[in-house]
Formats: sequence, C-alpha cells, structure tokens
Amino acid sequence: MTMPSPLLRRMPVPELPRLHQIVLPTPWEIGPVQIYLVEGDPLTLVDTGVMRPESRRALEAAFEELGYGLDDVQRVVLTHHHSDHMGQAQTLRDAGADLELWVHEDDAEDVELYSRERDERIELYSALFHEYGVPGALRARQEEHIRGWIGTEAPVCEPTRVERRLRDGDRIPFKDFELAVLHAPGHTAGHVLLHEPQSGTLLTGDHLMGEAVPFTESYFLPGSPDLCDPLQRRPRFRGLPAYLDGLRRLRRSTFRRILPAHGGIVDRPARAIEEAILFYEVRVQRIERALERAAAATGWASGWDVWRLLFPKLDPVIQMHTRMVMVIGALDVLEEARRIHVERNAAGTLVFAPAR
Ligand SMILES: [Zn+2]
Repeated sequence: MTMPSPLLRRMPVPELPRLHQIVLPTPWEIGPVQIYLVEGDPLTLVDTGVMRPESRRALEAAFEELGYGLDDVQRVVLTHHHSDHMGQAQTLRDAGADLELWVHEDDAEDVELYSRERDERIELYSALFHEYGVPGALRARQEEHIRGWIGTEAPVCEPTRVERRLRDGDRIPFKDFELAVLHAPGHTAGHVLLHEPQSGTLLTGDHLMGEAVPFTESYFLPGSPDLCDPLQRRPRFRGLPAYLDGLRRLRRSTFRRILPAHGGIVDRPARAIEEAILFYEVRVQRIERALERAAAATGWASGWDVWRLLFPKLDPVIQMHTRMVMVIGALDVLEEARRIHVERNAAGTLVFAPAR
C-alpha cells in the first residue's frame, strides 16, 4: 500500500509566515479539503478534514513535516459544521490534544449533537417540501432513499464538545496578529469567514471557493409560526438571500487573497465575489422565468410546479433535493425583492405569482 502524499503548502501568505495550508483527501466529488494551521500561541487548526483513516494519515504526515503531533493542537476554529470541516476534531482529542473548539453559535448544536440523520435534516426538509407542494408519496420515497444510503456510508464525523460560541465581530487572538470573525450565513446558518486585515487575507471556508459555488441551505428552525407573517409560516433559515447579502457586504471591502476550503488559493478576490453573485443571480432569473410559465394558466404555481417545469427529465426521488432547495432559495430572494406574490391555497401549499 502506498502512503497518501499530503500536500502541505507552507506560508501561502508571505506576511503571515506562521500560517500553512494542509490539503486532506475526502471521499467525495468535491475533492480534497484545505485546512489551515497557525503555528504559535496557541497552535490552532482552522477546520480539520473528514474522519477517515486516509485523512488522518495525511494530517499526521503534514504535522510531522512541521514538527508537531496531533496532540499538540490547542485550538480548533471551525468555519462551519459540515463533516469535511469538523470531522477530525474529536479524532484530535482522542489522539490526546487538549484543545478548545470554537465555532459560530448558530452551528454549535450541529457540532455537539452531530449524527448522520441530523446532518441530513430529513424530516425538516420533508416538511419544507410539503409546504412547497411536493406530493407525500414522493417525499416518503425520497426519505427512504436518503436513509438507505446514509446507512451504508462509513462514518465521516463524530460529535464533539464546543468551548466557545462565536459571533460576528469576535476576535481570534494569536501572538503576532488576530483574525476577525465575520458571520456569513448561507451555506450553513453559522458559517464564518476569518479576516486578517493587515495582509488582506480572508479565510472563506465554503462561502467562496476556488472553482465552485456552494449550495445554500434552507430549513425550518425551532419555534412557532411568525405572527407578523399573514401566511403563518414557521421560522426558517433562508440560506440564499443570506448568502447573497453576505457577498454584497464583502464587495465593500478590499481583500488581497482568499484562502478557501476547496480549490487552491484565490488571488483575485473581487472577481470571485462577483462570479458567485452572478452565478446565483442567473439562477434566480431562470427560476423567475419558469414561475411565469408555470403560473401562466391559473396565475399561481407551487415550488414543485416550478421544479417539474425546469427539470422534467430528472428522477424526482434521487435528483430533486438540491434543486428543490435551490428553487425555494430563489423564491425567497424573489419574495424579498417583491418580484413575486405568495399565498397559501386551500390544501395548505404555498403558491406564487409573478408581481408584474
Ligand atoms: Zn460545507
């Protein structure tokens, strides 16, 4: 057996000589995940990789090159709760690291209560899809399908304890510099960016990546329906409008480089920000057009009507989920921009109509 060769990129930022990028394998199509080690007081990892033997070996090899063991880690800061980011936090603790784990307060429960089922939010998504008109029989088949494949996958993550719940504007201090926490919800509710202003460096996790744009989440939050909403909708994390707001906020600052969790190093941050905004603006427009067509006959259409019109050839059991979340996100953006009207029909389904 050949050892996986870890990719250790020392000092990607000349002004921050104690910061290194470590590239770890993942079992997924997204490819490797890039995590960051900051040497010095305290020895800190930003993200940790998936919990898999090959990922652990790659991390150990990179650490060895720098003269450390896994048990030397004193602090882990997570950009967000997904398993390629938090996966090895408990592994480090099991290896003897006496570390503090810092993560945004909105992702902290997902870290402490991690399970594969919880991570998929199966019931929450099913309830959401119900509200957007997806038929019950189809939702049941979809749930069964998801439960089927998560039962066969080797574990990629373990729950672990959180010591510090971060908020927007918090500081992460080091000996020679500090990182500012920017809350950037969208991909997850508690996603954060870490900003080092002197060097113009932004660690972006999955919010901005080298060669891809992240999906954005949308799911019901605990709590009773919003009394201010005439449609009495349950409180919900609306990932896509939040994501676009976050990108537009980033537009107002100048960064010299972006260190993402996937896709190398981004030397032209402004262009990456514009491309991600454009990517979603185009999709929102496409969904607005589809809604106009789907609603042409009766004046109103559900999210499910829009999905069927856009993706007539796709398998609704296997290929519906991510695109349906995209449709819901786009409808959220259009509603906030007052480009559509929303009502609840007699069956309880939300229906939408173009505003013009
Ligand atoms: Zn992620």
